Parts: sequence; C-alpha cells; structure tokens
Amino acid sequence: MKAIRVSEYGGPAVLKVDEVPAPKPGPTQVVVRNHAAGVNPVDTYLRSNTDNRGPKLPYTPGSDSAGVVEAIGSDVTRVKSGDRVYVGGTLSGSYAELSLCEQTQVHTLPANASFAQGAAMNVPYATAYHALFHRAHGEAGESVLVHGASGGVGIAAVQLARARGLTVIGTAGTDKGRRMVAEQGAHHVLDHTAPAYLDELLKLTGGQGVDVILEMLANVNLQKDFGALAMRGRIAVIGNRGTVEINPRLAMNKNAAILGVALFHASPAQLVGIHTALVEGLRNGSLHPVIHQELPLAQAPRAHEAVMQNGHHGKIVLVP
Ligand code: NAP
Repeated sequence: MKAIRVSEYGGPAVLKVDEVPAPKPGPTQVVVRNHAAGVNPVDTYLRSNTDNRGPKLPYTPGSDSAGVVEAIGSDVTRVKSGDRVYVGGTLSGSYAELSLCEQTQVHTLPANASFAQGAAMNVPYATAYHALFHRAHGEAGESVLVHGASGGVGIAAVQLARARGLTVIGTAGTDKGRRMVAEQGAHHVLDHTAPAYLDELLKLTGGQGVDVILEMLANVNLQKDFGALAMRGRIAVIGNRGTVEINPRLAMNKNAAILGVALFHASPAQLVGIHTALVEGLRNGSLHPVIHQELPLAQAPRAHEAVMQNGHHGKIVLVP
C-alpha cells in the first residue's frame, strides 16, 4: 500500500510517498481503509523533531483519518468490516491508504458526515472538548473567548460551546475567517490583528470579562488575556509557540487559573466520554467540521506548509 514515510527529521520535503506492506490486525485490532487523513500542526512538530518528541524513524505521520473498516481481529466487537469510522490515534500512522488501530481508537462515523469531516474530528474536536469541559469546566450560562476561532480546534470549540449553551466570542485574523466563525455559531466575533480588540470584548461583557478563555497562541496573548477574564476565570492554554513574560499578580487579582491542555494526557475514561459526545454531536448535527482544502496524499509537503500559515479556514485533509 502507499504511505507517506519520514526517514529523517526536517522540513516538509522529508515527507515522501513510499510502498509499504499492508498491516494485518492482531486480535483486538482493526485495519481501516482511509478515505481522508487529517493534517494537524502537531504532525509538523513531530516531523521536524521539535522538543525531541519525534517518533522513531522511519515512520508514517498522522493520528487522524476516516474511512471504512477493511479487516478486524478475532476479538473485536466494536466494529465490523464495511463500517464507516473515524480514527482517533493509530498504531501505524494515518497518512496512508490503510491504518492499523486498536479497536478503542475507531469511532462510528454517522452517515450525515463526509470522510473529510471524519478526518477533522479527533485532534481538533477532542482537544476542544477536553479543554472546554474537562480542564476549564465550562458550563451553560457562562461566556467563553475562543482566542483563535478560525482554525481546526477553534471551529470545534465554537460549535461545542454554542451547543452547550455558553455565550461564545471568537477571534480570527481575516474577514473571511471572521464571517466563518460567526456562521459556526459565535455570538460575537473580533479581529485578533486589530489594536485594542479586547476592549471590545469588555464592552460586550458589560465590563466583566469572560469566564473561560481557550487560548490558541499563548506566547502572544497570555498576558493580555487576564484583562479579558472575569473574576475566578479560567484560561486553558491549547496552543503555544514560544515564551512569554506575564505578571502573576494579574492571576492573583482575579483568583484566575491558567490550565495546561494536552489531549495526549486525557485519561482513557475521558477519551471514552469525549468520543461518545463527538459521535452524538455529528449525528444530531450540532458538530459539522469545516474543510478548508483536500489534497492528494502525495502533496503532504504542501499540506504541512499550509497548516502552519495563518488564514486557512478549517481543516486541511489528505486524500490517499
Ligand atoms: P490551525 O487550524 O492552524 O489554527 C490556528 C488558529 O490560530 C487560527 O484560528 C488562527 O487565526 C489563530 N491565530 C493566529 N494568530 C493568532 C493570534 N495572534 N491570536 C489568537 N489566535 C491566532 O491550528 P489548530 O489545529 O486549530 O491548532 C491551534 C493550536 O493548538 C496549534 O498551535 C496547535 O499546535 C495547538 N494544539 C494543541 C493541542 C493540545 O493537545 N494542546 C491539540 C491540538 C492543537 P487566523 O488564521 O484567522 O489568523
């Protein structure tokens, strides 16, 4: 089968199409024929071995995909051959025609969702859910700033928060992005490139600030987030690309919490809860991933360049 292989860490050009043996399922495993694979920023960090977190070489990148069950192991009860599924983590990588998964990593893809949408579920939606509900304990009636609402995680957070009954303020850097964030359910949309845009947020919240901030670029925003936060507010740090100096007194003055978020550290029980909620959200139509671009598998290098640029609206997926 065809797969993208990385044989050395480096820039997007190290992503090469290769022919590798098709995987065979062990007793509790499932082989999925991928119709779409999701491209996430973390895939680029692993490819370039940022923070020495790169997988053992050579490897096939990607944790997210959607497709049809091709084969199952003898003890698998969750799915059967021919089922439509989305994949949340794999044993063999998702930028490939086939992926090997533990049965706990495959989830029903309802008929009303496309394969591209299924490939947009795992990292973006599971992270948004984990940040908003498990880490920040967002509740109906509260308000949330999705600071960076036009990307994969941001759109997911807007839809999840709106469906749960929070008041949602989202930000984006382009007109097109802001229109899309409003269409996805944000009550108010701000421009994170405009000067003093968080003053607008204070006006929108009657001077109170928001209860929760989901932060996509903490190294740029964390210090100023405190000015937009309500008393006893919670900032969930999802994305960060550098260091930042903050005055801790700002947190003290509001009894505020700064919470780190890593989907990787969600517990098995939390993951069961997350994916149960996500499958139901797809089924009832409250969750509908937005696809920015579908590219052939061989264009993985282009996809990695695009996912690290601002201004893409929604998800970039590869089609094997
Ligand atoms: P993405 O699709 O590339 O989206 C990036 C978002 O950041 C866009 O909405 C972009 O808006 C926004 N942004 C750009 N400049 C900003 C600024 N100054 N302030 C606020 N937002 C700004 O990426 P993603 O998949 O949504 O992931 C977002 C971040 O979370 C990435 O850094 C990723 O590595 C991280 N992440 C972490 C976890 C975890 O477990 N902690 C999981 C998934 C993702 P415009 O393009 O409209 O300017």
